[in-house]
Amino acid sequence: MKKEELIKSLKNQKFPERIIRAFEEVNRSKFVLKREKRFSYEDIALPIGEGQTISQPYTIAFMLALLEVKDKQKILEVGSGSGYVLELLSKLNPNGKIFGIERIKKLAESSKEKLKNCKNIKVICGDGSKGFKRNAPYDRILTSAAANKIPQKLIEQLIIWGILVAPVMGSIIVVKKDRKKNKVREFPGFRFVPLIAE
Ligand code: SAH
Repeated sequence: MKKEELIKSLKNQKFPERIIRAFEEVNRSKFVLKREKRFSYEDIALPIGEGQTISQPYTIAFMLALLEVKDKQKILEVGSGSGYVLELLSKLNPNGKIFGIERIKKLAESSKEKLKNCKNIKVICGDGSKGFKRNAPYDRILTSAAANKIPQKLIEQLIIWGILVAPVMGSIIVVKKDRKKNKVREFPGFRFVPLIAE
């Protein structure tokens, strides 16, 4: 599949215009392994080394739509891997700030190199299973690896009305933080690499 075909398929699936534009602006081929380059725009997950994968574009678009990103927000991605989703986030939030936390040093380092021209992205190497307190609270938190249960520590690091999108077991969970009772929605039927808590 060519990039234009992938974009067309995202359009057919009725994702919001601005999300599709972000996919148009970012080259997925920059983030996949050399030997996988020809598959860059297939709507499938691909290896990024170290036993990890870059998610399927459809799944990323689905999560980004749920995240309801607006400009000028402070956003954290836990498990930022290759950096692909970070660059998509920076297109949706050009005047905001994006933090990515990745536990595998090699991936964190190579994503830093690939994103060095994106001034509003900062990659941190470390365990993000409990978030990244130093810069909290966040407007939005996205987790790209699956936890066993809803990560309460991450919800604590959101502002009121902030949104967490996180895979939990085989579902994508969306939590909208509230003063009293958080609003939680669940979308089953997804697969992610596991979130490793240290
Ligand atoms: N969004 C990424 C997806 C990478 S896969 C991309 O676009 O490439 C998920 C990543 O989560 C893996 O790189 C894995 O190393 C990382 N991960 C798993 N547990 C983690 C943890 N506790 N803290 C930080 N990163 C973690």
